[in-house]
Amino acid sequence: MLGAVPVGGGAPVCIQSMTNTETSNAGATLEQLAALEEAGCEIGRVAVPDEESANAIPTLVAGTSMPLVADVHFDYRLALMAIEKGAHGIRINPGTIGSVERAREVARAAAAAGTVVRVGVNSGSLESRLRKQGVRAEAESLARSALDSVALLEDCGVGAIKVSVKASDVPRTIAAYRLVADATDWPLHVGITEAGTVWSGTIKSSVGIGALLAMGIGDTIRVSLTAPPVEEVRVAKVILASLGLREAGLEVISCPTCARTEIDVVSLATNVEEALEGCRIPLKVAVMGCPVNGPGEAREADVGIAGGKEGGLLFVGGELVRKVSPDDLYEALISEVNRLVEERERGGA
Ligand code: SF4
Repeated sequence: MLGAVPVGGGAPVCIQSMTNTETSNAGATLEQLAALEEAGCEIGRVAVPDEESANAIPTLVAGTSMPLVADVHFDYRLALMAIEKGAHGIRINPGTIGSVERAREVARAAAAAGTVVRVGVNSGSLESRLRKQGVRAEAESLARSALDSVALLEDCGVGAIKVSVKASDVPRTIAAYRLVADATDWPLHVGITEAGTVWSGTIKSSVGIGALLAMGIGDTIRVSLTAPPVEEVRVAKVILASLGLREAGLEVISCPTCARTEIDVVSLATNVEEALEGCRIPLKVAVMGCPVNGPGEAREADVGIAGGKEGGLLFVGGELVRKVSPDDLYEALISEVNRLVEERERGGA
């Protein structure tokens, strides 16, 4: 358990993100944590680069209902402070925490306080012990570093551990996680580190995290993007929904269009997705361009449009409802979706 959130042991894979406000600015950080939670984030992580940030932890813990993880590098005393100040979990990196004795001191404090510890190995900061031996940040060395730290934590009595071995390239990350997953039963936090901008980072993260989750590896995920953290949560939700690990809110199924396309699929699908963003009710909406696959997909969806000559066929709940003229397609789709959302909200209330 990380706070009230179960991690591993068959619990649903949960979504983590990290604030990029100054942690010492508790007001701004709480605002961002609230936005992350609203977007679907389940574990909030904050960087703790100085004492002011560590001092903000009690306010942050009190002000968010997500469990709070303190991310600490370089100064083991900040890790000790984060534990003392009540962070639900700390993330330490064996490559930056300092000597084994310091790591032990942090581990003993975490064990005494019941704080969860994540061993977060990162390809950019492999432990100096290994670097000095001429070892490069390959999958084997990332895994070895993580497993050595897990052994140290276990030896100090830490009872709740998570592990991550992130590299910035996908094959190495996957290889490292497979090694760790074979060697330990502790829950794994997975992600591709420094994945990039929304465009490339989303693709790299989806491929890497998706491949790992499809192999059954991963208990929490973080999509790292050079973008506002809320974007990370949006991408994470789609990754989990694509693999059937979470119910999606609204899912728009749309065809890629081709020479047979009879309606403006691109704007219709884009506008529908935009209009219904944030909808939490699981619904499938199909926007299909022609009668080839259109009626089939539209029938499978909760609401669907299959383009045809002079308009489209509207399907609701698998039944053909009526023919709609081209100008009315958007309105027809949206009003049917809204009707279903209201119906399901009433049903679930
Ligand atoms: Fe083309 Fe029709 Fe397939 Fe869309 S559904 S890509 S229009 S064949």
